[in-house]
Order: sequence, then structure tokens, then C-alpha cells
Amino acid sequence: MPSFATSPGTRDILAPDAARWRAFQQVFADGVETAGFTHIIPPMFEDLGVFLRVGESTEIVTKEMYDFEDKGGRRIALRPEQTASVCRAFVEHRPTTPWKVWYAGPNFRYEKPQQGRYRQFDQVGVEVLGVDDPMLDAEVIGLAINFYRRLGLSGVEVRLNSLGDSGDRDRYSAALHAHFSGNADSLSPESRSTLERNPLRVLDSKRPEDASLIAAAPRMSDHLSEAAATHFSAVQDALRRAGVDFVVDDRLVRGLDYYRRTTFEFVSTRLTAAHTAIGGGGRYDGLVAALGGPDTSGIGFALGLDRTLLACDAEGVFGAPRSRIEVFVVDATGGREAESICAHLRAAGIGSDRAYDQRSMKAQMKSADRSGAALCIIVGDDERLAQSVIIRTMEGGSQQTVSRADLVSHVTRMLGH
Ligand code: AMP
Repeated sequence: MPSFATSPGTRDILAPDAARWRAFQQVFADGVETAGFTHIIPPMFEDLGVFLRVGESTEIVTKEMYDFEDKGGRRIALRPEQTASVCRAFVEHRPTTPWKVWYAGPNFRYEKPQQGRYRQFDQVGVEVLGVDDPMLDAEVIGLAINFYRRLGLSGVEVRLNSLGDSGDRDRYSAALHAHFSGNADSLSPESRSTLERNPLRVLDSKRPEDASLIAAAPRMSDHLSEAAATHFSAVQDALRRAGVDFVVDDRLVRGLDYYRRTTFEFVSTRLTAAHTAIGGGGRYDGLVAALGGPDTSGIGFALGLDRTLLACDAEGVFGAPRSRIEVFVVDATGGREAESICAHLRAAGIGSDRAYDQRSMKAQMKSADRSGAALCIIVGDDERLAQSVIIRTMEGGSQQTVSRADLVSHVTRMLGH
């Protein structure tokens, strides 16, 4: 028989990591719901056109999309990110503004798989539609920072920039084009091709041969309109008031074309691999209109779950939660005692497990060890006749015999519930 393994860039998330993922999403949900965000679950695939609106000059759209024709002849794409889906949902349902939503789930990009870069990867994120106020920009950034703190991360840097309004962005793009094309011979071939599609993205190049031209490139800060500059400085003031440290990085251009004004990235100072960006976001004031809706401003961020957990590993924080199994029942009488004791304990909300197939005592004790339980309950023929059980602490091995009738209250007390 043929055997199969996961496709490149995808992984099975097994125990104990799967519980860690869930805890990650729960910590995120608790934080943002406290700030008035409601949950949205967009579909994992949409009409290809939704994602084309994101910008046909970004690689996410041109090279990395999982798109196909379905059996009904529709052009479909697996979502490469969720902001476009949220904006499509806004246009479709027309909720009242401000519309504050959060999401969690997988995205799909056909990238070259490596450590911290997968073809199916998870993000958690928020989006707010219908608010121009720069105080919101700072609040959104603060939400992410608070989340990182709750995970226990301390090595996260905020990089901040403004891309200006669309006119500013176009003027800046033209200035960059003039700068780079005047020196095109010294650019890497990849950047020469990027230059024709999106001059801003040349600033993203990490190739050494591009470094000196990038350093000498015109600055976005010199191309901001007065309104955009005022907005940007108000964002910075609000961040200072909130005690959020940040670094202004006017080389920060984010991958998606729809960003305007505030853009930001969260970088782990503890990850040494090429992929230190653990999250990012910004304003996308043109996207709702591009999807056929009314002119509506938007801002949000997406945090990479996979990569943030790598940062947690690097800092030794937010480990996998403990096993939910607190009690393991060892039954030397054939299994019926374990059956009823487990049912009792579980009904009382106490995580419990048992062995099957009438394994030997030794094998059952081994399973008890592996289960991570704090307590082991042992039933032999004597206990069964006396309607009692032996409770044994796994650490230390002290034992006591208690009556079956008192089992739940005893166990609850011993577990410190
Ligand atoms: P983006 O949607 O490209 O702005 O990415 C936001 C965050 O998602 C990044 O900072 C990464 O942490 C994460 N991310 C993006 N692409 C991938 C990928 N292919 N694999 C793992 N994480 C990713």
C-alpha cells in the first residue's frame, strides 16, 4: 500500500503543541474581546477576485496564491490572508461602523518552505473599519503589545512608519523609481524586476548588492502630505502616552499594496533566522472601496502564530499547557471498576484516563506514568469487595485507602481544586 506524508510546507500539529495553539488563540481572544472586538470566521476560500484587489503587484497574489477552477467553473483561491475577506464581508453585510472584528485561522501561500515559513500557516488578527482617528492606530498596536506581554514575550520591537496617503505614496513611488532606475546596473536582477512592478518593494530587498542604493534612496518622510504627517505624529504621541516603545523605520514597506498611512511590524529580537517578523499591520484606507464598498478607512494587524511560538521557544515562555489528565485509574480486576470510576470522575469534571485490554499491573502503572496524571487510583480484588480504592500520589508514591463513596471529594481535595 502506498503511504503518505504531509505536503511540503504543511505539518500535523500534535500534542502537546495543539493545546498550545488553542491556548494561544484563547489568550488572544480574551484580550481583544475585552477591547470590544467580536469574532469573525471568514471562509477559507473565496472568489479569486477578492484577493486580486489586494494588489496585483504583490508576490502573495502573483506567485503564491493557491488558486484553481472549481467544478462549477468558478475561479477560487485559498485565502492567503484574511484582511481582504474581512473587507469583502463588510461590503456584503454592511454592519454599522466602527466594525471591530478579530479572527484566527490558517492561510495558504505557495512559498518556499523553511523554518518559520510554511505553505499553511496560522494567524490571529484584528480589523477595524470606519475609523480615521490616529488614537485607534496606537490602540491597535497596543493590543498586540499587550498580547505579546500576556504570552510572556519581552523581546518584541515595534517598527513604525507612515506610507502617506495614496497621492503621497504615488509621488514617493515615482521618486524611488527615478532613484533606482538611474542606478539600475548596480541593482540585483530580482530588484530590477521588482522595480518595474512596485518600486516600494525594492526597499524590502535583503540582498547585499542592493544595500547601498537602498540606504541612499529618497525617504518617505519627505513625501508625506501635511495631513498624513499630522496623523503620523498623533499616532506616535498616543503610543508614548500608552508607554509603548517603538522605532520609526522609514524603510518599512509592507507586502500588500493597499496599505496607507500607518504601517507597523513586530519583530522578535530573539529570533536569529531570516524571519524575525512575527506580525504586522497598518491602515488600508482604500481596500473597502476597491472591493465595491463605500469609501471606508480600515486598520488591522495579523500576527503569525507559528513564528510567534518560535519566539516563545527562544525566550522559554508560554510552554505547552499541562495534560488535562489528573487521575489515572489502574484496575487489576478486569476493567469494569475503571469504567465506572472514570465515568464518575469525568462527570465531576476531573480529567481521568485508564488502560484497556486487561493489561498487566506493571503495564498499567507505566501508562499512568506517561499520562502526566498527579494521582493514580488502584483497584484490586480486595478494594472491589470492600468498595474502596487506593489513591496513590505519582510524585512521592504515598498511598491511602478511601471508600468509593468519598472518592470524588477526596480526589478534589488532593488535587487542590
Ligand atoms: P503578512 O500577512 O504577510 O503581513 O504577515 C503577517 C505575519 O504572518 C508575519 O509577520 C509572519 O509572522 C506571519 N507569516 C506570513 N507568512 C508566513 C508563512 N509563510 N509562514 C509562517 N508565518 C507567516
